[in-house]
Amino acid sequence: MPIAKTDVIWINGSFIPWDDAKVNIMTHALHYGSSWFEGIRVYNTKKGPAVFRLKPHLKRLINSAKMFRAVSPYGPEELEKATLETIKRNKMQECYIRPLIYRGYGDIGVNPLNNPVDVMISVFVWGAYLGKDALEKGADVCVSSWRRAAPDTFPTMAKASGNYLNSSLIKMEAIMNGYVEGIALDSFGLVSEGSGENLFLVYEGKLYTTPFASAILPGITRATVVQLAKDLGYEVVETMIPREWLYIADEVFFTGTAAEITPIRSVDKIAVGEGKPGPITLSLHNAFQDVVRNANDKYGWLTYIS
Ligand code: PMP
Repeated sequence: MPIAKTDVIWINGSFIPWDDAKVNIMTHALHYGSSWFEGIRVYNTKKGPAVFRLKPHLKRLINSAKMFRAVSPYGPEELEKATLETIKRNKMQECYIRPLIYRGYGDIGVNPLNNPVDVMISVFVWGAYLGKDALEKGADVCVSSWRRAAPDTFPTMAKASGNYLNSSLIKMEAIMNGYVEGIALDSFGLVSEGSGENLFLVYEGKLYTTPFASAILPGITRATVVQLAKDLGYEVVETMIPREWLYIADEVFFTGTAAEITPIRSVDKIAVGEGKPGPITLSLHNAFQDVVRNANDKYGWLTYIS
């Protein structure tokens, strides 16, 4: 389904009506994937609309570009101000924020160094990423035949648009085979992450998640869940995860800005635990909802819109 238009998009310091927010067809990013983006959420909390973890998202955005020698012409404070203003101008109560830094129109060779670094920030409404059913009952997922990039090929710590060609392959294969999402292994054959989510498993009461070195994006929801789990008294271990551990885990779940905390009820048609969301997944889900819905924010993770 096409996304519903909102009023304006911020581009390089100006607010442009949605329909006029266009780029030249020769834009570098369109030809070579030379862009970096974020996905951030605004929740309509009990205390009003608030952005969840805005600062770490903008930091990751700027750092993603930096890994490719692209310097954002706008610093974190300017991007924060622009983001909040874009939400206000579009009168959004609850939405998804999509900022993008991209190599713009100029040279057409692969070398991007002489092309401008442009920035845009858009906001729009986006529902449950893996479907409402998956969020409530658990998702049926598979291990993908596509692997995440080897460490000396693409920097997976960057949220770089080009990396998402790999994510698209994982996602399309999963959907064509009747699953909602795929889990990729890394180049060594160990578990990495979903096409757009990090992964946790629960085994004998402890939580396990894959480390940065397993070709993952350093997820902000992942960091959030690690903090919430520790506060709930659970031990969290970052370690390499062999594929077969997924099949015998008591619980498995995805984390991500779009997916939030999505329970996984089967992997490759093998039931995870009892084939329904497990108690630790649910307690983390509730703790997360308590922050973003009830505004029970002892962490300072919410930035209110007004
Ligand atoms: N991995 C990938 C590949 C992703 O695209 C995302 C979504 N941004 C995540 C993990 C989760 O990251 P976050 O919790 O910061 O949204």
